[in-house]
Parts: sequence; C-alpha cells; structure tokens
Amino acid sequence: MISWETITQDISSQTQSSFSIISKQPVGGGNINSAYLLLGNTQTYFVKLNTANKLAMFEAEAAGLQEIAKANVIKVPRAVCYGIAGQSAYIVLEYIEFNSRSKASNSAVDLGRQIAAMHGVTGSQYGWHRDNTIGSTPQLNHCDSSWVSFWCEYRLGFQLQLAAKNGYAKQLQHNGDKLLADLPVFFESYVPDASLLHGDLWSGNYAYDAQGEPVIFDPAIYYGDREADIAMTELFGGFPSQFYQAYNDCFAMDVGYSSRKTLYNLYHILNHLNLFGGGYLSQCESMLEQLLNEI
Ligand code: ADP
Repeated sequence: MISWETITQDISSQTQSSFSIISKQPVGGGNINSAYLLLGNTQTYFVKLNTANKLAMFEAEAAGLQEIAKANVIKVPRAVCYGIAGQSAYIVLEYIEFNSRSKASNSAVDLGRQIAAMHGVTGSQYGWHRDNTIGSTPQLNHCDSSWVSFWCEYRLGFQLQLAAKNGYAKQLQHNGDKLLADLPVFFESYVPDASLLHGDLWSGNYAYDAQGEPVIFDPAIYYGDREADIAMTELFGGFPSQFYQAYNDCFAMDVGYSSRKTLYNLYHILNHLNLFGGGYLSQCESMLEQLLNEI
C-alpha cells in the first residue's frame, strides 16, 4: 500500500506550505513507473511511484534533474522530494503542462540550440559521481579519464555481461568481445569532450510547455561524448529536422559521427534486449556485425 499522507507531508515540508490533495489522476505514457497528477489546494504535482527497493533510482533522477537545472540552459522539472511512502518509493516533480499540439518548428529550433548548449557544459572526467538507471537497468557511472575505456567497460561491456547472464552469450559474446577489443579504432582521430548528457534522449523524453518552451525529463545523466545523446535522438522515432539543423549550427558534429552512431545506439538496443527480451536479439546481432565490418 502507498501512504499518500506521507507524500503530502513531505511536499508540505519541502515547500513550506501546507499541501492537501484534492484529487489524483493516473497518467499513462511512462515505461517504468506508475505516475499520477496530484491536484492540490495550492499546486499540481507530478508523482512517480515504484516498489520501495527502487528508491535509489528516484534519488538519482532527482540528482540528475538538479545537475541539468544547474547548467541553466534548458528547462527540466524541479524535483520537489522523494522517499518511501508505505510500500512504495516515490518522487514528486513540478508539474509542467505539456502542449502536445505545439511540436512546432520554432520550438524544435530552440530544443536544438538548448541541447547544444547543454553539451557545451563539460566535466573534468567522463562518467558521474553516482550511478543511475537506464530504463530500470543499473547504469554505472565511475569517473574515468579515458572515454574509450569508460564506454568499453561501463556501457557496452556491462550490457554485454548482462546479456550473457540473460542467456544470449552464444549469439553475442564472440562478436561483442571482438568489438570491445577493437573499440579504439573508432576513436583514432577523435577525443570527445566530457559533455553533460541527458543519457536517455529519445523522443518520449522531451516535450514543449504551454509557451512552446522545450522541456527534457526522465534523464540518465553522465558526462560523455555528446554523439551518444544525438545518436539516441535518431533511434526511436527521431527528432524533427529543425532540431538537427539548429543543433549543428550551434555545435557542428564531427565528421566521424556516422561511423560511431551504431556504437552508441548498440548500448540502448542491448539494454532493450536485457529489459524486454529476445525481440531485440537480431537487431543486436546485426549492429555488432555492421560495426565489425566498419573496422
Ligand atoms: P517513466 O520514468 O515511467 O518512463 P516519465 O518520466 O517518462 O516516466 O513520465 C511519463 C510521462 O509523464 C511522460 O511521457 C510525460 O508525458 C509525462 N510527464 C513526465 N514528467 C512530467 C512532469 N514533470 N509534468 C507533467 N507531465 C510529465
């Protein structure tokens, strides 16, 4: 059972204003959590719930939203509070009214410019100081001075190990090991900056607010090659062409991006294999083959 009373008290104490719920509306659309709008006496909030053992996931989400907010280049929902309420973990976010009709071209231009500005924010090392999740899979965020070893060990290597545990070693291990050994080939004349990344930048994780201002949410942040974010924008549904034009005008992509795009998206397809099962296996196999053919 969930204790709404605990959540209400936490909102009241964090906002220093007495909050009470007038009504709750379930919200669809998320992949991982159940979500509600809390319509209250003072404000509306957006709440995500999961089992109590997922509290660290919400802690990391709040910290990730804060890190992007700190950069002050693109709008993200403010995390109000998180914790355990009865048998559920929760996170309460600022509610933002999304304007579904306004996937308008000038908003897409702003989105491109603002994502470019976010990628212009850099860290001194790759990774991040805390782990988070990608979907519900752990995403390890060790701090590393080498991008190649970070991507090898903490991204592709980790998902390949998980895939082996899930029974796909026979199909993936040989080519996976070969790819990991040859990873430096993709970076012979390219050393990426450690850019602030959203980390899960697919089309379901951005929207425009009522004024048409871009908003990104549900991040899996770390510092890394900005090509990893851009590759993911192309993966599930794609972003509007105005987005890419505006992004490139602000921060031109490296000419070698096309050779690394599959390398970055393989991480997410492996994650889908690990989360959702064998329907993604043939895509993983063909991506591995394509990458080995490029070497
Ligand atoms: P999940 O973590 O389960 O994937 P999301 O964070 O993607 O959930 O949220 C699910 C849906 O809820 C989104 O697609 C979006 O439409 C809506 N949503 C997310 N955050 C907010 C917010 N702060 N205010 C209003 N709606 C939101």
